[in-house]
Amino acid sequence: MPASRREFVYGMGAIGAFTMFSRNLFSIDRTEPELILYNGNIWTVNPRQPRAQAVAISGGRFLAIGSNDEVLTLAAGNAKKLDLGGKTVLPGFIDAHSHPAEAGLSHLRMVDCDLRSIADILKALRERASKTPPGEWVLGFKYDDTKTVEGRPLTREELDAAVPGHPTYVQHRGGHTAWVNSQAIKLAKIDDHTPDPPGGKYDRDPATGHLTGHVRETGRETFDKIIPSHFTRDDHREGVRLISQMMTRTGITSVTDAMGTPEDLRAYQDAREAGQLKMRVYCHIYQAFMDQMLAAGVKTGLGDEWVKVGAQKMICDGSISERTARLSQSYVGRPDDFGILVTSEEELYQQARKAHAAGWQLGTHSNGDVGIDITLRVYERLQKEMPRKDARYRLEHCTVVNDSLIARIKALGAIPTPFSTYAYYHGEKMKEYGADRVNHMFALRSFIDAGIRPTQASDYPPGPFEPMMALQSEVTRTDAKGNVWGPQQKITLEEAIRVGTMNGAYASYEENLKGSIEPGKLADLVVLGRDVFKEDPYNIINIPIERTMVDGRWVWES
Ligand SMILES: [Zn+2]
Repeated sequence: MPASRREFVYGMGAIGAFTMFSRNLFSIDRTEPELILYNGNIWTVNPRQPRAQAVAISGGRFLAIGSNDEVLTLAAGNAKKLDLGGKTVLPGFIDAHSHPAEAGLSHLRMVDCDLRSIADILKALRERASKTPPGEWVLGFKYDDTKTVEGRPLTREELDAAVPGHPTYVQHRGGHTAWVNSQAIKLAKIDDHTPDPPGGKYDRDPATGHLTGHVRETGRETFDKIIPSHFTRDDHREGVRLISQMMTRTGITSVTDAMGTPEDLRAYQDAREAGQLKMRVYCHIYQAFMDQMLAAGVKTGLGDEWVKVGAQKMICDGSISERTARLSQSYVGRPDDFGILVTSEEELYQQARKAHAAGWQLGTHSNGDVGIDITLRVYERLQKEMPRKDARYRLEHCTVVNDSLIARIKALGAIPTPFSTYAYYHGEKMKEYGADRVNHMFALRSFIDAGIRPTQASDYPPGPFEPMMALQSEVTRTDAKGNVWGPQQKITLEEAIRVGTMNGAYASYEENLKGSIEPGKLADLVVLGRDVFKEDPYNIINIPIERTMVDGRWVWES
């Protein structure tokens, strides 16, 4: 038992519930507080002071943390006081890998089809069509054919009936397939006799040969190319405003944009200047844009606590939910399929070397054990040739691991950012990995036991970003239907909270700035509607988020 935990147990035991807080006021010398939150059940994620009742805030930072009495005595004339009524408080959550800027644009322009029935999806599309000028596209995204009550995919006929006056395109949540209506098919100039494009498919009814409207991979790109997709600078800013509002409502206070472009970086800054950015952003830069960045002398860490330049983002192999991650053992039921490598080891090395030499952190998408092995080899080689202290190499996703990969990750001090909500949300898609392999996927238990610091990461849009879902998924490894996926990797709730807070801060070199409720740190926190430690672990997802604070201000109040 670590010392801090022992202290807590004693505090709650013989000595009485609140003596643990006496001679235990943690504070910094500063002006009087602007705001005091008291009568709370505060989990600080600070091992030296794990629990508290009250916190004083000033200038967007935590000033003092302790018992009600200790903190309330700091109040002078103008300090506001808020009685939390015993509610549970946690540090704000850090989503260490998602795609907020891009998702924001999708939410602006497309219908969110993350609904539980085809009827509801068609209704939402019909509503959008009624507000869309005739002939213009009606677009949907986040549709998941495995999640509707009908238990079958959408059809072209249904889309024709619901949206007769517009070409319609509904993208799957995973992003690799889509469903289109007859008008869209006509505009794409394809018909029942058009051959499938190389690397893709236009699905056909086996009986009649008619196009079903379901298109895959490059078949989907046929439509992507004809959908007008011009966004103004204002649209980009508006997208960021919208997504930051959506994410902070769930308790997220910081994100890493895992694939930023110069336009995304500008959008975050524009939103911030307009007072519309509600969360902090660590923005990776995709490798394709690195030459401009390097020429300008930009590197990881440039910016401030709101918008900061992150790592160089590279991609090694394929995806987990679409079953293309590069594996050493083939997919279940497909003996010849080992997934795909997107970049060769040498290309990856050359690209990584440039950025590493210029002082950048590196973040490489690597999902399968082969992808992770290659990425680690590149990092190990760089560290040997150009050693850097505290390089914090990131393995974006780092999904399928084994003991030897884990030992190398530990030796290198690298940081995995595994999917946090997949066991719960995409569990059924994990069948193709096999039960044994799933016990080595999103391997939080193995990482933590090895002394590695994994993060919470949604990869939104493909994965839901709600931190309460992440906690439930990580603690139970169980999907909504009760199926268990990789039970060996369960972690405790306390561990899951640390993964979602402090570890996220560490992954962006900000562990001294945020990730716990400590004097001097940024005042980012979340107030839960119910005590997560008393909740049935299979019901954590239903805990309401009452309030979210970023920089000492409420950005969400229910
Ligand atoms: Zn991603």
